[in-house]
Amino acid sequence: IIKFDKVVKRFGSHTVLDHLDFEVNPGEMVTIIGPSGSGKSTVLRILMTLEQIQDGVVTVEGEPLWHERKNGDLVPASEKHLRKMREKLGMVFQQFNLFPHMTVLRNLTEAPRQVLGLSKKDATERAEELLERVGLSDQASKFPHQLSGGQQQRVGIARALAMRPKIMLFDEPTSALDPELVGEVLKVIRQLANEHELTMLLVTHEMQFARQVSDRVCFFDKGRIEEQGPPDELFTNPKRERTREFLKAVL
Ligand code: ATP
Ligand code: MG
Repeated sequence: IIKFDKVVKRFGSHTVLDHLDFEVNPGEMVTIIGPSGSGKSTVLRILMTLEQIQDGVVTVEGEPLWHERKNGDLVPASEKHLRKMREKLGMVFQQFNLFPHMTVLRNLTEAPRQVLGLSKKDATERAEELLERVGLSDQASKFPHQLSGGQQQRVGIARALAMRPKIMLFDEPTSALDPELVGEVLKVIRQLANEHELTMLLVTHEMQFARQVSDRVCFFDKGRIEEQGPPDELFTNPKRERTREFLKAVL
């Protein structure tokens, strides 16, 4: 459902992704781990079309992100194409990025109404269902600053789900949380993974969690995948020296 084919991403002279090949299959839960600066967030940002690439091809559901086909030719993507591609993906950020001046309910109904054209009634119903799923039915009329970090992040997840994406991207969703609030957010992500309906791509430093919920773990280093495999294999029997070093430092 996601494919990176020899993707090169540079910031000035600094190469962040160096001919990256990377694929995610429909319904798969893939975790990306790796040292700071290895390009993990960049992969997610490219998928959200927040970053351009310099070479290679990225496709989502077989369609290139940055180009569209017109009469058989590939031409640079129009705003319309980018919008269509963005709707396939939902993203949850480390810093919750909720709309501070809107209630929780409005945070969830705004985009479905504005972008998808849902009626107020339909958007509200959808939002209430999602708030129940993340355990926040009683917080609908609060503003983000009245919630704990863990609650805000659960709202962030519900808000992304409200757009009914096919793919969910999580960039260190628990890194900004106090330790006692991490569990409630991981619980929601675990539920989603267990449903196997969404394709999920998670960047995290929570190794224990990655091991429990992932179908596959990818170890990124210097803009490439140094090693990947089923979590039990990668964590107990890493094949590459670099992976071993990294795991020794973080486990
Ligand atoms: P972390 O674990 O610290 O979040 P990461 O693996 O997510 O790291 P990225 O955020 O993808 O790393 O960044 C990869 C490299 O690209 C880093 O060296 C970073 O400094 C550089 N970089 C990212 N965004 C920009 C930017 N807008 N301009 C210049 N350099 C950037
Ligand atoms: Mg990052």
